[in-house]
Amino acid sequence: MKGSDRNKPCKCGSKIKAKYCYGKQLLECDVFFAEEVKRHDKREEAIFNYIEDIVREVASSFFQNDKKQYVLGARAQLIICFSFIDVLTNLICKYENLDLKGSSKKKSMHERQFKYFFQEFIDKKKNTAFKNTKFLQGINAAQLYHIRCSLVHWFGNGGLCKGKQITIATDRTPNKIIDQFLTIGSLILMPLELKETLINAIELIMNRLLSNIENANKDKNLRVHHVRGIDRCYQKFLEEGAISIKESDLQKIILHKQEI
Ligand SMILES: [Zn+2]
Repeated sequence: MKGSDRNKPCKCGSKIKAKYCYGKQLLECDVFFAEEVKRHDKREEAIFNYIEDIVREVASSFFQNDKKQYVLGARAQLIICFSFIDVLTNLICKYENLDLKGSSKKKSMHERQFKYFFQEFIDKKKNTAFKNTKFLQGINAAQLYHIRCSLVHWFGNGGLCKGKQITIATDRTPNKIIDQFLTIGSLILMPLELKETLINAIELIMNRLLSNIENANKDKNLRVHHVRGIDRCYQKFLEEGAISIKESDLQKIILHKQEI
């Protein structure tokens, strides 16, 4: 922007002086947005690729050997699923700019985030995979969070949660064994059911993002919300995101020439 143009009305048609519109890098300014959108598209692509990459790794934890046995144990599969919930929850909280601090000191922020994710993306009314599970839908958010903490910190099953025991079984566990645990009132947590539920949860998240992208052209508030949301996710990705590196990229990265 030339100096003489700074005090003229912005070329975007907002009737605001250019220095307070384009000059302030407002996403509402069509001229600035036209420049910003290229950077935004790259950030968005990086986030989507990152999620895709994680989905691949989560899916690989359900690989089977030639005897049709899972290579990984049920607890390790569950821990990976719970870690995936954490990643998705962090991303969605960044995107929506939620801090979920709340007033209750009894629940940690992490627990509130977990329950928010459960409500939004695992709820029976929204998540059809969850609705079709045989056992998982019998476990509520508090119980699932309870066993999640025990698994990731102790490889445990949390003992009793509000009088209920949770038993980990796989889809290969014989029905007669599962039935015995059901008759004593135990809840059953099956890794495959949790994984299928999470795959549906990602679809719900993607649908939300894609609908925002589609409607952002018509609604400037939504456009600002979406672009800022993706930027917050991207900053988190830059700070902590781990990416797979091909040997051919190594030299570029070492020389800090890699651009995302
Ligand atoms: Zn403008």
